[in-house]
Amino acid sequence: MNCHILAIDQGTTSTRAMIFSAAGRCVVRAQRELKQIYPRDGWVEHDPEEIWAATLTVCREALKGAAAAGISVAGIGMTNQRETTLIWNRETGKPIYNAIVWQDRRTADHCSELKDQGYEAEICRTTGLLLDPYFSATKICWLLDNVAGARQLAERGELAFGTIDSFLLWRLTNGRSHLTDVTNASRTLLMNLEEQRWDERMLEIFEIPAAMLPEIRDCAADFGDSEEALLGVSLPIVGIAGDQQAATIGQACFEPGMIKATYGTGCFVLLNTGEKICYSGNRLVTTLAYRLGGQSCYALEGSIFAAGSAIQWLRDGLGLIQSADEVEALAGQLKSNRGVYMVPAFTGLGAPYWDPQARGALFGLTRDSGKAEIARATLESIAYQTKDLIEALEKDSGKRIATLRVDGGMTGNRWLIQFIANILGIPVARPVVAETTALGAAFLAALRLGVYTSLDEIAETWQAQEEFVPDYCEQQREGLLAGWRKAVARTLES
Ligand code: ADP
Repeated sequence: MNCHILAIDQGTTSTRAMIFSAAGRCVVRAQRELKQIYPRDGWVEHDPEEIWAATLTVCREALKGAAAAGISVAGIGMTNQRETTLIWNRETGKPIYNAIVWQDRRTADHCSELKDQGYEAEICRTTGLLLDPYFSATKICWLLDNVAGARQLAERGELAFGTIDSFLLWRLTNGRSHLTDVTNASRTLLMNLEEQRWDERMLEIFEIPAAMLPEIRDCAADFGDSEEALLGVSLPIVGIAGDQQAATIGQACFEPGMIKATYGTGCFVLLNTGEKICYSGNRLVTTLAYRLGGQSCYALEGSIFAAGSAIQWLRDGLGLIQSADEVEALAGQLKSNRGVYMVPAFTGLGAPYWDPQARGALFGLTRDSGKAEIARATLESIAYQTKDLIEALEKDSGKRIATLRVDGGMTGNRWLIQFIANILGIPVARPVVAETTALGAAFLAALRLGVYTSLDEIAETWQAQEEFVPDYCEQQREGLLAGWRKAVARTLES
């Protein structure tokens, strides 16, 4: 079928538009980098007008490329950096402040206060999340309390809140649609995970007026038509999911027990747990994987704070390498790690350790340790952290994980993927289409448009480019993991 989908992928560091064929292959792409704004230590912002302008530019470029190739586009799917928070004026469409990015820690004190007041257990149970500045709720509250007059305007229904998906949707439909999808809504700390509606009690705790919230829809749904004057053509926007959920869909992880890991700046692991909400005993997050035709599919999620960023530190912090791909050859030079371990706790350690005070460390250095040992230890640490996460996911879900699907910028490193397979002791597969996030958004739109009639049809398009089979024996694996655990134990503060 000659049916193509425009996928918009508004990420933390860039905005992309890609056109996918019905077979799930990318035929045209356009991209713009996004400026990171760091007004103070721990604060991270994006300029919403820059995001909007870049979105328009990449969409126009991609549609132009498609037209030149004689391809007609049937609809739009959208995916976005999650949790990043925006508030705009309904009348003017103008944001009242920059977007507060998911990484921003300015509301840490607010979260601590709420913990001290005893709200944590209730919040975690209702939303499946953790009481942490990472999620949207305390960011919304900060905006209402720190932008002059915002709270009064919000209470009068004159302001709209949205994550990036809602904001772009509002702009693309010229203010006609104020909507979001369940996956984005599930990251706000305001959605009741079981009933998938805004939770009055959460709104009360976080002091957020209901009048400013978008309506929550399925991931494949009618979100409105784009304004013709903007893209030269009016297209139905029919698919939305947050980036990690979109990657889960792009990796066709549709069965309970299927799992994907995206290795970029950080690493995000999502395990499909099916129709069942699975609460974590290891401080993992419970979230929606997707909802289609009113049917919810849940996931457990864990993240590694420093993955690609640890490689960036080798390059920019230490000057050990010129470019990220050099680490592969350096690590491969050695027959073993020679007892050198690195714990990249630059911003603390996440699941299952949860020690925000922990800081990075290198262990086991000797006089003949050099670049190669440090590069290898850094890459190895990513595999050990993946192992820690997988163990936690297996404990929480009560299921053994059989294979891992990987994607993201780091997965170009074959040595790393092989080492991950060796440490996990299960096969690790890398798909043909590396752009799984945008692909997932395209799949959602294609489902709504009837290009696919079931998830099984989508699953059939998934193809492994390469599978990495473990080649360590149990003893080798356990020996290395024992070294890692010792290094982590020495790093923990609390
Ligand atoms: P993001 O989407 O988070 O911006 P990408 O998926 O584009 O990230 O991946 C980029 C990250 O991958 C960078 O942090 C970079 O250091 C790392 N990276 C890129 N190539 C390699 C490689 N060959 N080996 C290890 N790390 C790599």
